[in-house]
Amino acid sequence: MTSVPARPGLDLDLDQPHSARMYDYLLGGKDNFPADREAAGQALSVFPNLRTGARANRAFMTRATRYLAGEVGIRQFLDVGTGIPTSPNLHEIAQAIAPESRVVYTDNDPIVLAHARALLTSSPQGHTAYLDADVRDTDRILTSPELRDTLDLDRPVALSLIAVLHFLGDEEAGATVASLIEALPSGSYLALSHATGEFDDDAERAALSYRTQGILMLLRRHDEVARFFDGLDLVDPGVALVHRWRPASDVPADLTDAQVSVYGGIARKP
Ligand code: SAH
Repeated sequence: MTSVPARPGLDLDLDQPHSARMYDYLLGGKDNFPADREAAGQALSVFPNLRTGARANRAFMTRATRYLAGEVGIRQFLDVGTGIPTSPNLHEIAQAIAPESRVVYTDNDPIVLAHARALLTSSPQGHTAYLDADVRDTDRILTSPELRDTLDLDRPVALSLIAVLHFLGDEEAGATVASLIEALPSGSYLALSHATGEFDDDAERAALSYRTQGILMLLRRHDEVARFFDGLDLVDPGVALVHRWRPASDVPADLTDAQVSVYGGIARKP
């Protein structure tokens, strides 16, 4: 079953680069425009590893979801900052393991909304929904019919915030995570990834290039990323560079920390 989103008059704001479309370009997708390619090109010119980091991040999303659906047995997912559909999407990964999995996707980019139909291809046993919302508006997310009709908040939920918190200021990022986690019951999980500048100074230059082009992007250190998990029990190996988080055959053996420059982690709410 699926929920089809309302389609308000979409303003794609094509003259401005958008993080979702830049990321799509970095991943080799087609849903990006000249302003996005130009902005991503500038970031790539100072940090050529950006593309490798984006791919390693997407691979982490896949492994994290497999872990949550497979080893942990989670059947409900709230994916915030979903991005432009990129195969495999989270529900495809989870439903390949457990077809009854239920997934709420949310993002605030109009182009993600425009392509949301590709996220609504649930298995008949499960359900997917898409909500157009700013992650900072946690009340709206948590009370939305899309979420309430899809997820049972009395049962564990895996919240994923993959490569989205680096687009928020410190206070906003911390408050957002805390309020989403607070709404979830014991046994829920947080899966998170976040760009860092600790391994390559050029990553900081790339973040500066995003900011110069009007997209707030803040890299954070290990201790700052770990703080998002306060009050939760991190599973092994804790907060690690994403290619070191339970690597599988999808992780090329020669990837370096500097190339990846994205931390990831998963934790359980006690
Ligand atoms: N989670 C996906 C996509 C990451 S790209 C993945 O890791 O593969 C970052 C996404 O966060 C983009 O789609 C962007 O539109 C979204 N985003 C950025 N700021 C946001 C905000 N304030 N509210 C909701 N989504 C946001």
